[in-house]
Amino acid sequence: MKISVSIKRFCFVGSILLLSGCAMNPVTGRKQFVLISEAQEIAMGKESDPQVIAFFGLYDNPTLQKFITEKGLEMAAVSHRPNLNYEFKIVDSPVINAFAVPGGYVYFTRGIMAQFNNEAEFAGVLGHEIGHITARHSVIQQRNAFLGQIGIIAGVILVPELARFVDPLSYGMQLALMSFGRDAERQSDKLGVEYSSRIGYDASEMAGFFETLERQQAASGTQEVPEFLSTHPSPEERQTTVEELAITWKDKLKLTNAKINRDSYLKRIDGMIVGEDPRNGFVENGVFFLPTLKILFPIPVG
Ligand SMILES: [Zn+2]
Repeated sequence: MKISVSIKRFCFVGSILLLSGCAMNPVTGRKQFVLISEAQEIAMGKESDPQVIAFFGLYDNPTLQKFITEKGLEMAAVSHRPNLNYEFKIVDSPVINAFAVPGGYVYFTRGIMAQFNNEAEFAGVLGHEIGHITARHSVIQQRNAFLGQIGIIAGVILVPELARFVDPLSYGMQLALMSFGRDAERQSDKLGVEYSSRIGYDASEMAGFFETLERQQAASGTQEVPEFLSTHPSPEERQTTVEELAITWKDKLKLTNAKINRDSYLKRIDGMIVGEDPRNGFVENGVFFLPTLKILFPIPVG
């Protein structure tokens, strides 16, 4: 009670100071203080999308692109924000990652597409990413970044040499690579279970994907945690939560024959390039080949 009064007051003062105000969060239904309207949010996504595509490149596989678009639109229609114009794209990167940009843009790398064992695992992650958009996580994060940036900008103005360290990546890429924090990730996992269940998938399969990621990480022997995991709750916690929630949603929706679709998914990703794409250049017997530009030159020893 007390809290809601102070939020209202903060929002009111905030509106006057920053010409923006409170908006209802589409997922929680609660009022929150945001600096960005829905129209601005959509404009941010429109501006970022070409930057993201320029950075990674689109993965050249029309059948798989069509598949994620169809599943994405089906899921967006049952989400908390069905009216946004969503776009779903596979980018040409070997890294295992998926990310979302405000306004309705969702990206999967070809690296993550090759790691799913079935459609249900894919659907869980798809729901997670749509969840970041429907719960407006980037917009909230943007507000926090903005409030922090006032400090940075003040610092830059005082110490001009610092300016070159600010903004090393384009604005669109910063949005795409933004991390949301654990609470937002937990909320997105929840939404991932809900949305994938609502389109008939077995959401408990998403837990299996966390296991794959862990195994992958252990096998590679690197300390480097994939971006998808680094700011997220521990995989064990996520597995337990997802399994429990999946049961709740199966009951709620009376989902008796939840889809997993293993064989059809594996057929879809059959022949996919795993790791670096040789078309981007490779070295063999001391010679560097760049097939796309028909270039080859010897690499000097050492
Ligand atoms: Zn996430």
